[in-house]
Amino acid sequence: MSEKNFPLTRQELAELAKTYPTPFYLYDEGAIRENVRAMKKAFAVFPGFTEHFAVKALPNPFILKILAAEGLGADCSSLPELLLADMAGIRGERIMLTANETPAREYIKARELGAIINLDDRTHIEFLEKTAGLPELISCRYNPGPLKEGNAIIGKPEEAKYGFTREQLIDGYRTLRQKGVKRFGLHTMVASNELSLDYHLETGRLLFELAVEIKNKTGVALEFVNLGGGLGIPYRPDQEAVRWEDLAGGLKKLHGEILTGTGLEGLVIHTEYGRPITGPYGWLVTRAIHKKDIYRNYIGLDACMADLMRPALYGAYHHITVPGKEHAPPTETYDVVGSLCENNDKFAVQRRLPKIDVAAANPGEAGGGDFVIIHDAGAHGRAMGFNYNGKLRCGELLLRPGGSVVQIRRPETVEDYFATLDVEGLTQFH
Ligand SMILES: *Cc1c(COP(=O)(O)O)cnc(C)c1O
Repeated sequence: MSEKNFPLTRQELAELAKTYPTPFYLYDEGAIRENVRAMKKAFAVFPGFTEHFAVKALPNPFILKILAAEGLGADCSSLPELLLADMAGIRGERIMLTANETPAREYIKARELGAIINLDDRTHIEFLEKTAGLPELISCRYNPGPLKEGNAIIGKPEEAKYGFTREQLIDGYRTLRQKGVKRFGLHTMVASNELSLDYHLETGRLLFELAVEIKNKTGVALEFVNLGGGLGIPYRPDQEAVRWEDLAGGLKKLHGEILTGTGLEGLVIHTEYGRPITGPYGWLVTRAIHKKDIYRNYIGLDACMADLMRPALYGAYHHITVPGKEHAPPTETYDVVGSLCENNDKFAVQRRLPKIDVAAANPGEAGGGDFVIIHDAGAHGRAMGFNYNGKLRCGELLLRPGGSVVQIRRPETVEDYFATLDVEGLTQFH
């Protein structure tokens, strides 16, 4: 079981919504910091352990600055993400560039920042050499193909576009060493939102065994292995989080069993978790603005899939609660929907919920309708937003440990939407 809490009461939320109208994302800084501390404590069994937070999960420099203060690095996959890491003061080898089909300008920027570059393919050795030059430290991404099962979101590894095959990897390290590279890392990422502890331990085993094979075949002693991201969170209340101690403890045991006596006892562990770092500590805060009863009963929110697309994209479950009605019986069955002209814009389908009231029911309160909280939206939430259908993405608020709230990204405006158009040119255009 996982508890689904929201840090503010209905009254506090009504007060906050006077300054910051819904919809908005709210992140809980204290809870994020506590979670990162628990993770770091568990992984302290590995000297040199680094978690490079996957910036794509929550690309806000205020959040990155908090994570950096807690000792995390950044995992980037684009030029803007490299710039975000830099803005947050994350520098040098605290940054990892794990990109694919990488343009030259990203390699050049990564070199400038002193980031660890993680190559996605053997042909990128020459590409990097010719564009940005080869650094002293290089990591390579491994695709285990049929050796490892994937999962629903990421698919089967042998059908995935990422990484080197096993043979290519062995050759790749030889080539890199010949070209003067001095330090080496190995990376893989084979699943997404996977809640099985054993699955992640097996990924560790795979990488530790491969590190030994690489050393035996090429003489290259890896400095680190990066387990990637893909650690799931319990979106459903009946699911259970993987405990940091179980994960780190299990990996430590395998590390000892596989690497003792191989000369790789000091192999450092890196991770690139995004979702389990911030996911449970962010909420999409919305309000019910319409209600319609046709063949099904619908609650219409002031947010839509442009704010949070996981349910529409993957049929993903996000828990929903109604502040002030936490203990009310779930007497209704609703489809909770957004305003996009796509029928899959549904945050929940046939969900049992307490009776939800729209604006007219609460005339005393500005805005009026019940707040509807969409849980576990702190990763791959606002970040995946888009402007299709002329939808403007909502802003982001941060609940600070003392209880104050600051806006860390304002909502988009119509001016933002038109910013890439040459309106002047349009008037001249016939
Ligand atoms: C998306 C991604 C991550 C982060 O995944 P989470 O599920 O958020 O932990 C890490 N590394 C790479 C290469 C990714 O593509």
